[in-house]
Amino acid sequence: MKVKTRFAPSPTGNLHIGSIRTALYSWLFARRHNGKFVLRIEDTDFERSNSSSVQSIFQGLKWLGLNWDEGPYFQTERLKRYKEVIEIMLKTGNAYKCYCSPKEIEEERSKQISEGKKPRYTGVCRNLKTQYNINKQYTIRFKNPTFGKVTFEDKIRGKITFNNIELDDLIIQRSNGIPTYNFCVVIDDLDMNITHVIRGEDHINNTPRQINILKSLKARIPIYAHVSMILNENGKKFSKRENAENIIEYNKKGFLPEALINYIIRLGWSHGNQEIFTISELKKLFNLDAINKSASTFSMKKLLWLNKYYINNLPLSYVANLLKDYMKNENINIESGPNLECLLNLYKNRFHTLQDIAYSFRFFYEEFKFFNIKSDNKYLILKNFYILKEIYNKLKQLSFWTIEVLSKVINNQSIESNIELKEINILLRVVLTGSMHSPNIISIIFLLGKEKTLSRFKKAIIFIEKTKNKNIN
Ligand code: GLU
Ligand code: ZN
Repeated sequence: MKVKTRFAPSPTGNLHIGSIRTALYSWLFARRHNGKFVLRIEDTDFERSNSSSVQSIFQGLKWLGLNWDEGPYFQTERLKRYKEVIEIMLKTGNAYKCYCSPKEIEEERSKQISEGKKPRYTGVCRNLKTQYNINKQYTIRFKNPTFGKVTFEDKIRGKITFNNIELDDLIIQRSNGIPTYNFCVVIDDLDMNITHVIRGEDHINNTPRQINILKSLKARIPIYAHVSMILNENGKKFSKRENAENIIEYNKKGFLPEALINYIIRLGWSHGNQEIFTISELKKLFNLDAINKSASTFSMKKLLWLNKYYINNLPLSYVANLLKDYMKNENINIESGPNLECLLNLYKNRFHTLQDIAYSFRFFYEEFKFFNIKSDNKYLILKNFYILKEIYNKLKQLSFWTIEVLSKVINNQSIESNIELKEINILLRVVLTGSMHSPNIISIIFLLGKEKTLSRFKKAIIFIEKTKNKNIN
């Protein structure tokens, strides 16, 4: 049978790292087996579902390249189908109408709790012969078997067994006529021919109920794999309710999809000690058996490490192309400065995110407005005024702007003024980049070009003149 998996998020909050990992596992499993991957939006909880969450799901999956072969299906568009099955179940006696009011249910619950019992619906309406209260509001419940066991072989956790006696008769249609989650999932998985249900461990308790419904419909039972949770750096569970970060925020912060996928896959899945995986490799290697049973902990440090790795190892033109968007968002006009690829080549091993690169590249394209107080007080001083002027004059005369010529000018200046080259380099960094730290300064002078270099020298010279308030000729 052809493998078919699905990602079935409820659009009730941000698509966060936990949900995207479940999606990634389902997607990879389908890809690995040349199967199909379905996207289904479980939106029958009208109060909590919202369209911005739906958008966040689409955006996140698209950004990471987790393409779906079918869907998106929306459960709210399938209500007719659910009703149809419920009617059949009522006729075959697998479901029944429950006329108990919420008040009655609550009273029963409190009584059970006060008697130290586990609260459950005791099934008063299960065997009603006549539907006497025909005008009263009702819910519809599934008639769960009262004896025997439900067992399934979880692909990650092994054999899991529940006693039927512990499962009460589940509501499958609310009093407002809308079917419930546990019911819709079953019908959808069945209609969509899902072979493997890969989802969060919070659904383990729903599984025996869903299996019982499937059995009552004489349907095939899919294979289940319940993935453990991810803890955030404070040891707490990632959850939408706690406002876990939207996956798209990682895009905004300058993470590469390749890095995020590699990071997420390793959060709970392993292949020996291998750390770096390409997507095409994962499509060949991914399996459910190697998923870890215990919880994993998110580590920003590791994600940053991987991101740096990918910035440095993916093709330069690809990274430069992604970087363009970040430059644009920063309102930096890349036409007004050096070639982005050359720049990236020079700088890339210094940064962890594309956003940081964009910030740091600004000075190549724009004049910086303020000098940095700390380094200015140290370097933009009278002592350096003459050196700057001399270098300025020499650079101005140059008719060739090459690395060799520029190196010669700076080296000679160091000898002539008897100042260590290292010191001159720092001075030039402050003048040309606004910071004491930068890659090789000669490359920077080269990439900045003659015009920008000279204008920055001039600016620094004027700055010293003004701030020192000296009349120097
Ligand atoms: N809609 C459920 C959720 O977002 C998932 C259901 C499932 O995967 O079976 O938690
Ligand atoms: Zn009842």
